[in-house]
Amino acid sequence: MTTESALRGAVAELVSARASQRGRGAPDALDSRGVKPPFSGRCACGAIRYTVGSAPLAMVNCHCRDCQYASGGAHSSSLVVHCSAVTVDGEPRWYETRAASGMLARRGFCPTCGSPLFADSETSRGIILAIKAASLDAPEGFEPMIDMWMRSAVPWACTNPAIPKFDTNPPMRPPPR
Ligand SMILES: [Zn+2]
Ligand SMILES: [Zn+2]
Repeated sequence: MTTESALRGAVAELVSARASQRGRGAPDALDSRGVKPPFSGRCACGAIRYTVGSAPLAMVNCHCRDCQYASGGAHSSSLVVHCSAVTVDGEPRWYETRAASGMLARRGFCPTCGSPLFADSETSRGIILAIKAASLDAPEGFEPMIDMWMRSAVPWACTNPAIPKFDTNPPMRPPPR
């Protein structure tokens, strides 16, 4: 099993397990919701554009400190996609930090206008990429499935009580019943 299929399966299991525990309609991690492939986006000045040829694996709100710094708001909103499906036109600048998880995380932004665009982690670099939701050409389609890193969420964050919340990263396997 490849890393990306393992991750895709884990996200799907996680979300359906959580939804059934709560007795709510199960969101389908494999359903691209309002973001249908191919989809595209860009930075504010247009120097960097991207297209993605397959459906997102997940859509998440991350409340970690790095995402707060990078977004300028309460959390980042990101689509998790296969790198192999992404085509980037333009050269983002990358800034690397040691994330709260202990992993090296990298954030890609436009060196001209500063728009945050991408993020990845040393453990999944080249396989999985996070794309900032506000950079989508049709950002209204973004529909977060989970809130993560609630440990560092600010009191003024507005979150949807109907979606699962995790103190840190979501587990890669559904919790035991
Ligand atoms: Zn730009
Ligand atoms: Zn984060």
